[in-house]
Amino acid sequence: MAGYLDARPRVGYFYTGKTGAQLLTENLNKIFVRDYQSLPVVVNENISVYDAIVSVFLEDVGTLYVVDENSHLVGVLSRKDLLRASIGKQELSALPVNIIMTRMPNITYCEKDDMLIDVAKKLIDKQIDSLPVVKVTDQGLEVTGRITKTNITKAFVALVDGDL
Ligand code: ADP
Repeated sequence: MAGYLDARPRVGYFYTGKTGAQLLTENLNKIFVRDYQSLPVVVNENISVYDAIVSVFLEDVGTLYVVDENSHLVGVLSRKDLLRASIGKQELSALPVNIIMTRMPNITYCEKDDMLIDVAKKLIDKQIDSLPVVKVTDQGLEVTGRITKTNITKAFVALVDGDL
């Protein structure tokens, strides 16, 4: 089961010659975004910063994805984006989130059939906590899921426990 041994009819068991690192890489390359993604929390670009903060608490997430009236991805709002807006002098219930969000085309995203290890590399590279999982259409990006550092940690634990 660990991959060190393999079996062939009329030959029996034999040593595959694979190192632990090779086997780990092989297993990592079999984990996809679709296996570990969670549900995204999306908000409309016209809602206020105040309402976005309420959503963060109600939905218990760190990042909100912002969509336009056609439900296409237009922005990302992190906890610190919301905190930064809150320490200013603005009236939070009158400030739309599209003023403070990180917007397209600067959003890093992934698709459900991407390898989870590639998403992990992007999170490290861009120093962000999550990526929206999208379906690319001619009209725009439909948000179908999210991958956070927690999802990656779950995959890591499953890998060690042999639960993949
Ligand atoms: P926090 O700001 O709470 O530490 P992040 O590290 O995820 O959370 O976000 C850092 C900055 O990067 C924020 O300004 C946020 O809007 C932006 N950001 C977060 N996720 C993405 C993403 N997938 N693509 C582009 N920018 C993002």
